[in-house]
Amino acid sequence: LTTLLISHDACLDHATPRGHPERADRLRAVQAALAHESFNALARREAPPGEMAAILRCHPERHVAALEALRPESGEAFIDADTVMSPGTWQAALRAVGGATAAVDAVIGKQATNAFVATRPPGHHAEKTRAMGFCLFNNAAIAARHAQAVHGAGRVAIMDWDVHHGNGTQDIFWDDPDVLYVSTHEMPLYPGTGAPSETGAHDTIVNVALKGGGDAEEFREAFEAVVLPRLARFKPDLLIISAGFDAHWRDPLANLNLTEEDFAWATRELMDIAGRHCGGRIVSLLEGGYDLKGLAGSVAAHVGELMRG
Ligand SMILES: [Zn+2]
Repeated sequence: LTTLLISHDACLDHATPRGHPERADRLRAVQAALAHESFNALARREAPPGEMAAILRCHPERHVAALEALRPESGEAFIDADTVMSPGTWQAALRAVGGATAAVDAVIGKQATNAFVATRPPGHHAEKTRAMGFCLFNNAAIAARHAQAVHGAGRVAIMDWDVHHGNGTQDIFWDDPDVLYVSTHEMPLYPGTGAPSETGAHDTIVNVALKGGGDAEEFREAFEAVVLPRLARFKPDLLIISAGFDAHWRDPLANLNLTEEDFAWATRELMDIAGRHCGGRIVSLLEGGYDLKGLAGSVAAHVGELMRG
């Protein structure tokens, strides 16, 4: 058993306007980093197109139909000031969903120890009925519900270390006692949600707001004091990582100043939890990360650790 890497070049065809941080070059940088010979042991698979049934577990049909109707034949269609559809966006978004559910299938089906899904657009800002923040469909949430509906997983935990709060994931699981959502994020920062007082209807939302500006000590302390104990207590059947790398010190959108080694450390800690509670099953999905060098190096560090599982 090994680590599975899932990606698809259709995700390069989601075009964003010049100067937009969430751009195809991000995925090219990730793919190039993982093409290095040190990743030869990865199993590799193309993301299949996502199934509508999987999307509809998190987003209502009317909302999905309205988004599909926005698809432009040419040029761009703006969903909000940050979130845009190009002619290739719909297929890219479907591959991002399909990559997430295929990773769940492979990991729960014991074809891989764990999996990393390198796709775009990202997902964690996508609420039930609102696409926003560069995100169309909430890939992590769809993966969690897929694990429950198709594979009978009981409890699923989602750890989100993207530097932004995953308002979409929180929205979808606010009143769901079977999905634990844990987020570390810089605050104040976009989208403005994620205060520690936001705990969900069943105390299964855990928000850790970080001030930023210093080094990684604040992040590591929060991880040890809050994130790891909450995950361990929940005893998930599957651990999903919303793996954004915009908390890296080089990232232009935020100020948390993590390094590649911090992401490697956090990965090892999560693998330890997963090893003790869910047979090591981890599905990690690319979210943000907007400095190409910081992103590529951090993904390499993260996937390198996953491969040691
Ligand atoms: Zn982010």
